[in-house]
Amino acid sequence: MEKLAEVILIPSPAMGHVAQMLELAKLFLSRNPQLSITVLIMKLPDYIDAVSGPFVDSVAASSSSGRLRFFELTAADPTPEWSSKTRGHFVYRLVQSQKSHIREFLISQRPGNNKLAGFVVDMLCTPLMDVAGEFGIPIYVLFTSPAAFLGLMLHFQFLEDECCQDVSNFNNSDSSSLLSFPSYACPIPPTVLPMVLVDRDTWLGRFLDFARGYRKAKGIIINTFAELEIHALDAYNNNNNMSRSEQEPLPLIYPIGPILNQSKSRSESEEAETTNWLDEQPLNSVVLICFGSQGSLQAEQVKEIAIALENIGCRFLWSLRRPPQSNNAQFPGEYTTYSEILPQGFLGRTEKKGKVVGWVPQLKVLSHEAIGGFVSHCGWNSILESIWFGVPIATWPLHSEQQVNAFQLVKEVGVAVEITLDYCERNKDQPMITAEAIKKGIMKLMETNSPVRDKAKEMKEKSRGSIMEGGSSYLSLGKLIDELLNNAAL
Ligand code: UDP
Repeated sequence: MEKLAEVILIPSPAMGHVAQMLELAKLFLSRNPQLSITVLIMKLPDYIDAVSGPFVDSVAASSSSGRLRFFELTAADPTPEWSSKTRGHFVYRLVQSQKSHIREFLISQRPGNNKLAGFVVDMLCTPLMDVAGEFGIPIYVLFTSPAAFLGLMLHFQFLEDECCQDVSNFNNSDSSSLLSFPSYACPIPPTVLPMVLVDRDTWLGRFLDFARGYRKAKGIIINTFAELEIHALDAYNNNNNMSRSEQEPLPLIYPIGPILNQSKSRSESEEAETTNWLDEQPLNSVVLICFGSQGSLQAEQVKEIAIALENIGCRFLWSLRRPPQSNNAQFPGEYTTYSEILPQGFLGRTEKKGKVVGWVPQLKVLSHEAIGGFVSHCGWNSILESIWFGVPIATWPLHSEQQVNAFQLVKEVGVAVEITLDYCERNKDQPMITAEAIKKGIMKLMETNSPVRDKAKEMKEKSRGSIMEGGSSYLSLGKLIDELLNNAAL
């Protein structure tokens, strides 16, 4: 039998990461019959995240084939320490715990005798690069956030390691000042710098380590497209303050997006309730409100949104999820009844115009012609999905790198209006976003004729063009696949 070039993929378990990696697997296979893929799966326990594990199982059940295999790594045994800090800390511990299992897999459990072409590790799984390195396998990183954020991570790590600068000091900058960073076209207010890059106690050390890992990769695959992030990709390719250029060239980058999560996370019948309701709504009339797989808001903040929606009187589809209740690493869950959290009588009064749900089939919803705008936490997947369907965004970041994504969308790309750019769920002094500010943002978002809506339509066309034959991402993926085949000497 003909030997294939085998690529081993290691996704990070959270939804916004694992879904992209699974789509990358499908993309590789559909583009080249000489590739074979093994996905090494690590799962979050159900008490941490009840969504991503079943999602991966259903994708594995429906898409395994001769060329696409899933291998579930031995379940980890989390200690209370894993849950003591943040979701990111839990994931990090889980990733570290898998080193020996991956080594074992490579030594004795890898089926078949295909030629190894490369390892692709998620941007949060760089601790596993050492293991792949032991086997001399070329390693690639899948970067599931914007290229601008990759540039920021590398720049900050460069400042720390090469210029002896304490980047956490950016956090103390005068809040009315503006800071210039190579990968962003517009100067940035310090308030939108993500905590993951300025909070030394909780995140910074880990993120600097991730960035050190990226430099060791043979290539960095980014879920973005050239037309969306022209400035950031130029800054990277010109190595603008991201490394000592001569001595340490940066790895090649492959912008191959948008990679959209096409797999279902819920059954047809669960989805039908929402889509049937959308079918009855007028064109472009509904605002979708959704804060991603990890987003939830406290009761008082939920009430402000409810007041805003009632005041505006617009149609809405609101994905309302319950904040984690028992430990710091938990993901949000579902309410048993929404009346426990919403203002009294809200559901009855808005019955004709709105629908409150839990987890939504977001991609399908965004594709629906009734949707006219998206209040989003600005996770990168959600942004790419919204752009793909030409739906303008109103920004409400919560965590990770979302504040700086929101800034990029509003100030640089022009597909979003601002509700808030610097909301941060972990900021103990975070002020409430008032009903008035939410109303203002949603009304601007839903304007029929606006530069933001026009820009969203323009970017929709560009995103689709990028993955068509001859498009920027199509060509970039082709180069990556040629390199993988070359690695395997096929
Ligand atoms: N998602 C969904 N329904 C929900 C919440 C999220 O389908 O109710 C999907 C969304 O379409 C996206 C992913 O989960 O593909 C969330 O990724 P993103 O990067 O936007 O945010 P994260 O969850 O990582 O914060």
